[in-house]
Amino acid sequence: MRLIIIGPQASGKGTQASMLAKEMGLSHLSMGEKLRQEAASGSRLGHQIKERIDKGELVPNELVEKMTKRLIKESNGKFILDGFPRNEEQARFLDLITPIDHVIQLKVSDKTAVERIGGRRECPKGHDYHVFYKPPKKEGVCDVDGLPLHRRADDTSAAIMKRLQTYHNRTEPVLAHYKGKVLDINGEQGIRDVHFAILKALHKR
Ligand code: AMP
Repeated sequence: MRLIIIGPQASGKGTQASMLAKEMGLSHLSMGEKLRQEAASGSRLGHQIKERIDKGELVPNELVEKMTKRLIKESNGKFILDGFPRNEEQARFLDLITPIDHVIQLKVSDKTAVERIGGRRECPKGHDYHVFYKPPKKEGVCDVDGLPLHRRADDTSAAIMKRLQTYHNRTEPVLAHYKGKVLDINGEQGIRDVHFAILKALHKR
């Protein structure tokens, strides 16, 4: 199964992609996560990436396209892509390297996205939490590796507004590219309900 998951910031893409990956034996290919790892490495490229991410801007296509090609090659053709494609050029690039079975669209309003982002927390290795919706067992500490949790550097109000704008202007039009393959999911429900809604939609196909 080759899936894409698309949705605005804090729609639950990362959470749902990792649940589906575990359950269906897929590789979870998270572009944002890979970019944050590179940014944290302190390399020159990492600095350039970090600057873009922190401002809420997209990083250059050429870079993410190269990374996606490599990740897909390593995935044995069973994957869920989270954070790619984010514009039409990237979608056309993806056409050249792999077919896609379904595109899961997580729908949440801008109001919900902004509210959710305020409670989002992450550990340095990228495990994500939410203070209300997905709290860690011990406050401020990652369940998986015991590392301290922090807010993402790009979860500032200015960057959030910019990212939502970019989502509506650049990423939403990508859905038309996948006409007939898009599964619309109400992302405003609780985590488990969203998960079951996705499974139901996939099984109907
Ligand atoms: P995410 O964790 O998916 O919200 O991604 C965080 C940030 O990484 C985005 O706001 C962009 O700056 C960058 N990014 C992630 N995926 C892409 C992509 N496909 N193209 C360009 N920039 C991306």
